[in-house]
Amino acid sequence: MIDIKQNADLKNYHTFGVPAIAEQLVEVHSIEDIREALKYASEHKLELHVFGGGSNILFRNNPNGLTIVNKLTGIEVIKENNSEVELTVGAGEIWHEFVLSCLEKGYYGIENLSLIPGTVGAAPMQNIGAYGVEIKEVFKYLDAINKETGELERFSNEECHFGYRTSVFKTTQRDKYIIAKVTFKLSKIPNVNISYGAISGTLEKMGIDSPTPQDVSKAVIKIRSSKLPDPKQIGNAGSFFKNPSIEKALYSKLKEEYPEIPGYDQPDNTVKVPAGWLIEQCGWKGKKVGNTGSHKDQALVLVNYGNATGDEIFNLSEDILISVKNKFGINLEREVNVI
Ligand code: FAD
Ligand code: NAP
Repeated sequence: MIDIKQNADLKNYHTFGVPAIAEQLVEVHSIEDIREALKYASEHKLELHVFGGGSNILFRNNPNGLTIVNKLTGIEVIKENNSEVELTVGAGEIWHEFVLSCLEKGYYGIENLSLIPGTVGAAPMQNIGAYGVEIKEVFKYLDAINKETGELERFSNEECHFGYRTSVFKTTQRDKYIIAKVTFKLSKIPNVNISYGAISGTLEKMGIDSPTPQDVSKAVIKIRSSKLPDPKQIGNAGSFFKNPSIEKALYSKLKEEYPEIPGYDQPDNTVKVPAGWLIEQCGWKGKKVGNTGSHKDQALVLVNYGNATGDEIFNLSEDILISVKNKFGINLEREVNVI
């Protein structure tokens, strides 16, 4: 039996800390709960919203209708041999706790994704990534409930059309499914990926020259804790914008004018430019605007200094977009989901 709350304060359901009230809210703990919530929403003709940990959302408006918060738990080994293991994980499991539990059991491949906030179910939404790894590399399939029919449908890796911070659930299948379970294929053989600059330097400082996956996780946690604001202290939703990939010709032109501009060649012949660098060059890094601002250690992260509204943060993001466009001719795209 689901418990629907009226006018629920979303303070403890998201990380930006802006004021927001859900007209109706329900925490779901099972597939049956989800179906019951969908039935209720359909009978009352309610708009639907689905959240996990609320760490990639900015509320400009109060969500109307029914807000479903995914709390489905459970981690089950479904296949295993000497070298690999397949695990099916409830969408409401906390991502970082799942990473740590895998490391403890000797299941590897997601250590670079340590300390990313949020739930397992939201991870495929934007193909979460960090430090040279994306979940698509270990993702096998997911089971999601079709909001229209209430039926469980399976999406393979290919069917999710994963891309840079995107998937089919952010494009053609947007708002059509509630992800209930995700199945991963992890390795039992340690094989670390420390190619991403900051990791090897940090491991060196930690005095480690043959790192285990556990060491890599510790290094990532160390780096992240030193430069990213903790949402419990300062409201934020991580990177507000995606890193843009631009045409090689534009990159070469910008390189002449700004020899310091960083860029990473992409397989599709474009160049990825760190959005944080572009924002910093426009003078936003560490700048406070009213109750909001761009973080002092990571310009890409917009923060709430305490009393910001969703609109204030959104307006700052607009101003940043305009100044980056004017200075570099590059269109930034928001990564955070704006409600
Ligand atoms: P929510 O914010 O609750 O939801 C995000 C989106 O997914 C919404 O559109 C929501 O409707 C949808 N959604 C959520 N759950 C479901 C479900 N079960 N079914 C259908 N739709 C669903 N992201 C990275 O990729 N890499 C990083 O390194 C990273 N670092 C971060 C650091 C900080 C400090 C913060 C605050 C955020 C960071 N993020 C990062 C962003 C965020 O943590 C991820 O996007 C995370 O996957 C969001 O999970 P969530 O459960 O909080 O999702
Ligand atoms: P960083 O190390 O300062 O690097 C800046 C950007 O340059 C990164 O965003 C990264 O793009 C790119 N980059 C750096 N080294 C690269 C390499 N060897 N190959 C290809 N691209 C490279 O970044 P940071 O801000 O401290 O973040 C570290 C990692 O955590 C990044 O992967 C970042 O995406 C992730 N992160 C994500 C969020 C979020 O909310 N989405 C928040 C914090 C951190 P990529 O982003 O493609 O890696």
